[in-house]
Amino acid sequence: MVSVSQLGYIGIGASDVKAWQDLATHVLGMQVIPGDDRSTSYLRMDEYHHRIELRPGTSDDLEFAGWEVSDQATLQRVAQQLEDGGVKVTAGTRDEVDGRRVIDLVRCVDPSGVRTEIFCGRPIDPRPFHAGRPISGFKTGEMGLGHMVLSTPSLDESLRFYRDLLGFRVSDFTEVRFPGGELRLAFLHCNPRHHSIAFMEAKASPKRINHFMLECNSLLDVGIGRDLCTQRGVPIGIELGCHMNDRMVSFYLANPSGFAVEYGWGGRVIDDSVWQVEHYDSVESIWGHPELKAMVASMAAAAAAASGQ
Ligand code: FE
Repeated sequence: MVSVSQLGYIGIGASDVKAWQDLATHVLGMQVIPGDDRSTSYLRMDEYHHRIELRPGTSDDLEFAGWEVSDQATLQRVAQQLEDGGVKVTAGTRDEVDGRRVIDLVRCVDPSGVRTEIFCGRPIDPRPFHAGRPISGFKTGEMGLGHMVLSTPSLDESLRFYRDLLGFRVSDFTEVRFPGGELRLAFLHCNPRHHSIAFMEAKASPKRINHFMLECNSLLDVGIGRDLCTQRGVPIGIELGCHMNDRMVSFYLANPSGFAVEYGWGGRVIDDSVWQVEHYDSVESIWGHPELKAMVASMAAAAAAASGQ
């Protein structure tokens, strides 16, 4: 089996692109790059042209995600794995390839309904990255953009797609029981980052994405980012804390599309030669993240209500 190597890029449908640009620049420290068609804009965070595409629209949700493979031969092998698994795969058009700034891509739809692109070849942008605020930079490189957490109607189907057809490895399973219901999550990796994607099982969910995470090079960047949220009136969904599974020191801020951005530092890395799948029965953090438990409990209750339990 061949495997994807990193989360290369994501696309977000944004009803308020200007607010996203302000947040990305002044709080997150990213760089806004104008799009070709004057409506799309890109967010840059490292040596590549962009990692996030903002598409004007009303979805306010994740519209697509791009997973990188090492070369064109691997791209064809991953496409074949998907087709052998019964997934319809379509070659990217010239416009799609150009818009993403990649050499080649194929696309399909994952079990969460997310347009999923597999791509190879991204030119390094010779212009230096200019952070939107003083920041030490983002931990990307071989670990990719960061991570994202999606809702899925079937955890088993998502595992089959990502683990069995795209080559991800499971980092941990989390099953939490609450008086109002239970929530099942799975965290998967495709490089040393503890997880590049995770899933929460929910029969119905207002959005496909729960949050995406950006990892800073310094804890100072996170702390200053937290202060900037207060100064600029950005709502905090979950206060500072350190997760048990990936040890990320982070907080969660609300973005203009109504989901969260996790802004963190110090995440755990995985060595596949010695990793054993972990199991958790709690989402409580080592310290902090005080709102997390109640938030997950309400998601479990909503999931139970949606499935008629
Ligand atoms: Fe996260």
